[in-house]
Amino acid sequence: MTKEINDFTFYNPVTILFGKQKIEALPDLIPADKNVLILYGGGSVKRFGTLDRVKKALPHKKVGEFGGIEPNPTYETCMKAVEKIQSERYDYLLAVGGGSVIDAVKFIAAAATFEGNPIDIFAKGVGKGQPITSALPFGTILTLPATSSEMNSTSVISFKEKKAKVSFSDPHVFPVFSILEPELTYTLPKRQLANGVGDAFVHILEQYLTYPVGGMVQDEFAEGLLRILIDIGPRVVDETHHDYNLRANFMWTVTIALNRLLSVGVPGDWSTHALGHEVTVLNNTDHARSLSALVPAMMVVRHKEKWDKLVQYAEKVWHVTTGSEEQKVEEAIKRTASFFQSIGMPVKLNEVGVTQADVDTLVSQLEARGQVNLSERGNQTLDVSRSIYEKALDPDFHPSG
Ligand code: NAP
Ligand code: FE
Repeated sequence: MTKEINDFTFYNPVTILFGKQKIEALPDLIPADKNVLILYGGGSVKRFGTLDRVKKALPHKKVGEFGGIEPNPTYETCMKAVEKIQSERYDYLLAVGGGSVIDAVKFIAAAATFEGNPIDIFAKGVGKGQPITSALPFGTILTLPATSSEMNSTSVISFKEKKAKVSFSDPHVFPVFSILEPELTYTLPKRQLANGVGDAFVHILEQYLTYPVGGMVQDEFAEGLLRILIDIGPRVVDETHHDYNLRANFMWTVTIALNRLLSVGVPGDWSTHALGHEVTVLNNTDHARSLSALVPAMMVVRHKEKWDKLVQYAEKVWHVTTGSEEQKVEEAIKRTASFFQSIGMPVKLNEVGVTQADVDTLVSQLEARGQVNLSERGNQTLDVSRSIYEKALDPDFHPSG
């Protein structure tokens, strides 16, 4: 494997407005002649007054609403929004919500101008992987820091009938702007706060726990952000503790975790996300919980491939500096699992309702999606993925010791 930083092009055009009372800046962000459609989820933005603030701030003549985007948003729901946009002639979208709403709006923005069947935007197993040539412009107001969708160009969509969860990425679906008000996180329940910390932790790991190429900048960024999450995560998850700076640091860490800054020049793994998506397809487990339930097993099964970085992770992230390399790695895996447990996240698959009898289904779902040569080395075969699922279900495996 190469020991050199990979060549890269870094492009991220998203304008971030971070801080207090930023929703009130909407008139400066969306051109006055636009017909704006506000899209949101199951109603939290209505309950907590965010939607009212948004509507009040928009001076535009024509403002419509589309609610009901579900967690793990579905193609079917997205297509209803596309119909509304086309029949009522909206030309600017505004996502108000978490990763699900923002991901849905990315696909809706692309589908609304797509010539042909929008399902073909998705790759193998679902569509034809046809490139996008345009999308409606959209902004986002983030209510749940977890996915970094507010600052990247990826969208993950679920298909009810096809029983699939697939993503696409395209520069046309970068948000034009994203508003990050840390105070909007005050209404989040404990479980969603933990999901945010957990998902971001795994995003960073998937860009960091790969073979080393000497990417000092990316490694230090990743290690620093992981240490921040370890430090503030348990306090963030105490939902009664409304400390502005704590929430502000949480929000910004999570956004940077997957705005692609950490991935330039270094390999990316993403196999834990691939395996986790199939768990969500199986039983609708929260995205972040599907990941934390797999990470300790992944570290154990893949320890040989990940060795150099696991040692570095033990030393730089967990400050384990004494003992043999074996002891350091073992300790780092234990501490990772204990950290997830400290914020109420599962560390094994049985904790999210998966049983040994589901493993064949999970593996065949991976196969159907072409997820057969995963990880940064492309050598995570279906057999290796099966071993990870099985390890995460093994009654004798106690990840935190
Ligand atoms: P989410 O599915 O957007 O939201 C989860 C729940 O939190 C919803 O029930 C929502 O309620 C509620 N909620 C949101 N904001 C709230 C607030 N301020 N107060 C109270 N409740 C609030 O969760 P997510 O973790 O952000 O998104 C998960 C999705 O993103 C998955 O489909 C995952 O695969 C995807 N994902 C995308 C990327 C990417 O790069 N694009 C990366 C990782 C994961 P309401 O519906 O009522 O608003
Ligand atoms: Fe994720």
